[in-house]
Amino acid sequence: MNIGHIAVEPAIVIKTRGGTRVNEWICTTCGTQYVKSDAPPSQCSICEDERQYIGSAGQTWTTLEKVQRSGYRNAFYGHESNLIGVETVPEFAIGQHAKLLRTPHGNILWDCISYVDDVTVDLIRGTHFSARP
Ligand SMILES: [Zn+2]
Repeated sequence: MNIGHIAVEPAIVIKTRGGTRVNEWICTTCGTQYVKSDAPPSQCSICEDERQYIGSAGQTWTTLEKVQRSGYRNAFYGHESNLIGVETVPEFAIGQHAKLLRTPHGNILWDCISYVDDVTVDLIRGTHFSARP
């Protein structure tokens, strides 16, 4: 299967809690998303680890909504039959790539990415693309 390179328009996700907007903060250095809160966490536990680093601008945060509005997209690459690479373009955080293996018994997502939109969710669930021999 060769699906080539596909860039799609993202969906915008707005979440509220009791009418107050809350965010799931994403560390801009490592791309880890944290639980919903009104304010960003005081630090990123991943970047605070001695094996990681904090960017030269210090600890900064964003949200999925801001990333979606900033022009990021996921690109999908057909590596082999039923093996699809997923990467965010332009590169976000540390440039994580995911691989989606589609099987008759269900799909397996190997590794993770920070940026997600409806098309990516549909792809992972197996509802966006049909299998071809
Ligand atoms: Zn981090």
